[in-house]
Amino acid sequence: MKYIYLILFISQFGFSQSPYPQDYFRKPLDVTLVLSGTFAELRSNHFHSGLDIKTQQRTGLDVYAAAEGYVSRIKISHFGYGKALYITHPNGYVTVYAHLEKFSPTIEKYIKILQYEKESYEIEVFPSPEELPIKTDEIVAFSGNSGSSGGPHLHFEIRDNAERPINPMLFGIDIKDTKRPVISAIYAYPKNKKSHVNEIKIRKELRLIPNKNGDYTVEAIEAFGEIGFGVESYDQQDLANNKNGISNIQTFFNGNKNFEMDFKRFSFDETKHLNRFIDFEIFKTDKSRVQKLFVQSGNTLSMLKDVSDDGYIRVEDSTSSVYKIRIQDFKGNEAWVNIPIKGKKAKEKLEGYDLQPAYYVQPNESLRLEDKNISVFFPKDTFYDNFYIDFAVSSDTLTLHKDVVPLMKNCTISYNIENYSEEDKSKLFIAKLYGYYKRPYYVRTSRQGNYLTARTKSFGTFTLATDSISPTIKPVNFQDSKWVSKSEYLKIKIDDDLSGISNYRATINGKWILMEYDYKKDTLTYHFDDSVISDTENNLKVIVIDNIGNSSTFEATFFRK
Ligand SMILES: [Zn+2]
Repeated sequence: MKYIYLILFISQFGFSQSPYPQDYFRKPLDVTLVLSGTFAELRSNHFHSGLDIKTQQRTGLDVYAAAEGYVSRIKISHFGYGKALYITHPNGYVTVYAHLEKFSPTIEKYIKILQYEKESYEIEVFPSPEELPIKTDEIVAFSGNSGSSGGPHLHFEIRDNAERPINPMLFGIDIKDTKRPVISAIYAYPKNKKSHVNEIKIRKELRLIPNKNGDYTVEAIEAFGEIGFGVESYDQQDLANNKNGISNIQTFFNGNKNFEMDFKRFSFDETKHLNRFIDFEIFKTDKSRVQKLFVQSGNTLSMLKDVSDDGYIRVEDSTSSVYKIRIQDFKGNEAWVNIPIKGKKAKEKLEGYDLQPAYYVQPNESLRLEDKNISVFFPKDTFYDNFYIDFAVSSDTLTLHKDVVPLMKNCTISYNIENYSEEDKSKLFIAKLYGYYKRPYYVRTSRQGNYLTARTKSFGTFTLATDSISPTIKPVNFQDSKWVSKSEYLKIKIDDDLSGISNYRATINGKWILMEYDYKKDTLTYHFDDSVISDTENNLKVIVIDNIGNSSTFEATFFRK
């Protein structure tokens, strides 16, 4: 008996490569899996929490439950995941399916009743285990492009019972990949005033030389003191040209490992530190994401491991050493970078950064900056580093540094608008100026008496703008006083020039109807299969309100039998 237990024990724990169940989850689509996004790849302000699976440039593909379980959450939002379904499985894992076009008929019926009760397209519900049980291989939804999705695909996640997303490929979901990762840039970062690289005391891009075998060399550098490195890289799989994320980074100084980052799992509350992990200034200036291979204060990512001396190396005078970077994709294809380093202390005093001190900020203190009619408040722990912040006010224009420094928290911008007329006050909002033409974009603004306030997590230039123009509403596939018996839906186009759409309400014959808002196409769509109407002559009324409160009403009569 003991012998049998021993064999069982060994086969379950001794030989298994992965702590995650294999062959428990099936792939959620019945097509060859091709990815437009990998797990933990670097996105704006977050690590990607799942796989983006391509859907042959179309919507409507069958989406299968990855395993049996029950629907534990349904969330429908205009932005973000759009229509999203969460299934909890008996083993404690949760699978997530996002950007869906629609759910299976059973789930669709369930959620529509609740949307009609709430009179809202946007909704979030947590059904109990008995309400929507899911069988193995059940079709639970149809793939789409809803929410903030940039093209048809299925976003698929596996989360553990602590809500931490895990790379689904660890569960045996397989993607063909025999290509090695590609390295596109390498930077060196002198850590402090004493250190330098090629006689420069600030970040320095190094010349990368691809070798024939797929590895890379960097032209030998002369350095002294504590130095860190940064790398820009991507991975491609066999079946698509998409530039996806890599899966593991390790660095070695003279043969000793001194840094590793392993992208297997993270938790949502640490994902904001992505902006600390990448070189945020490079990202904001030329959109490329350089990952730092050293750890600075406030970067508490759980994906970091085996980090010694915070990933920095110490280069002594008159030495010769080598620093190596190994980048791996999930399938273990790897690319190496070899950086030969000659230790050489600079003879002359080197020039550093010439900062223009304006206001000095310290991360562990709150700060209020104020000038004329504008003030900005930063709560404690908004910043990662000490630095000099630019703050300038010129009439209604606020220059709040440059958008190259990551913030951990929102700051609050306040405008005193007492000098404006009552009429104007009601139409004003705080706008952020973008691009060469300094186009104003609405920042969510609230008003209390003579004060407008807005919260923002990014620096830049802000101003006051006015929106006095109401939204536009136009029918797309019907006309007033006409028959629409053959249409399956009513579609209208809504638009607002400056502050943007805030909300809308549509009724037929006085009864609320569910209209889906697609912000990317500026459309509202009502489906007749909701069976709200029974009359032949019907009155459609749609009210659309922008973010300042300007509203428009559209009415039309249509006939249907
Ligand atoms: Zn995604």
